[in-house]
Amino acid sequence: MFNNAARNYGKAMHVALAGLAMSCGSEYTKADVPKLNAMLATHFERYPQPPDDHRQLGLAQETLAKYIQLYEVEPWTILSSNGFPLIERLLHCPISSYNGIPINFFGILDIGVQKSDGDWVVDRKTTYQLGKNFAFEMAMTGQMRGYCWMYQKCFGKLPMGYIVDAIRTSQPTEKCQADKALLKKFWTEQFARLPFYIDQERLDEWEGNTVATLRRIAGDWEKSQWPMNDKSCVSKYGCCQFYDICSLPFAQRKVALQSNNFSENDWLARNLEGKI
Ligand code: SF4
Repeated sequence: MFNNAARNYGKAMHVALAGLAMSCGSEYTKADVPKLNAMLATHFERYPQPPDDHRQLGLAQETLAKYIQLYEVEPWTILSSNGFPLIERLLHCPISSYNGIPINFFGILDIGVQKSDGDWVVDRKTTYQLGKNFAFEMAMTGQMRGYCWMYQKCFGKLPMGYIVDAIRTSQPTEKCQADKALLKKFWTEQFARLPFYIDQERLDEWEGNTVATLRRIAGDWEKSQWPMNDKSCVSKYGCCQFYDICSLPFAQRKVALQSNNFSENDWLARNLEGKI
């Protein structure tokens, strides 16, 4: 879970990179940069960042320009399904059932691509820090294995793996900006592409773990008992979005949930619109 500014900045980069892939496929040399910059500007106008946060429109536009410059022509072809490219596509498939009610797994694939060795799932990640721990986290994250599992279920083909297309969200310091070599190094270190291979065993393991989690959730629901996952209240990404609720005395939580800060979760309904 992310704090809002990090999530909002990540969303903006996703929108721009999806626009980039939609408009020029794998050849970023054809990019209409002013149009992509306008997309970013519209996003931040609609969803402004807190003024004291460094992740603003200027950084997003500069990061996008450097991304285009660095990757220029991608070593892949974007896959299609039902006549539409696999860019920001909502996929879903059955995963389990509860008392005869089917449970489906849903996910939005950033891009599905074909390389010379097979199909790959590409996921864009904005992060405040790249490096060893980020790579360790990406190697294990169930999110990526879930995308690969879903890809196999939806298209009947085991992908080679997933590629994390990582974008750091830091900004150059004044010292860095004053030194050409330092600035060049900064921008080179702002991006990383991390490929991870998967195999059937890993996907079966992911499915087993996910179904076990679903059973636990169904059991909690039957008992109306929701144990607090207090290890996740605060993480390196910031506070959980429900932190202000869970830290209140029990009797006040329901009232606080009625405030304007919270609304019914309609993520699925919004994302389903026109996408299936
Ligand atoms: S206990 Fe509350 S604040 Fe902590 S992770 Fe769960 S929902 Fe979030």
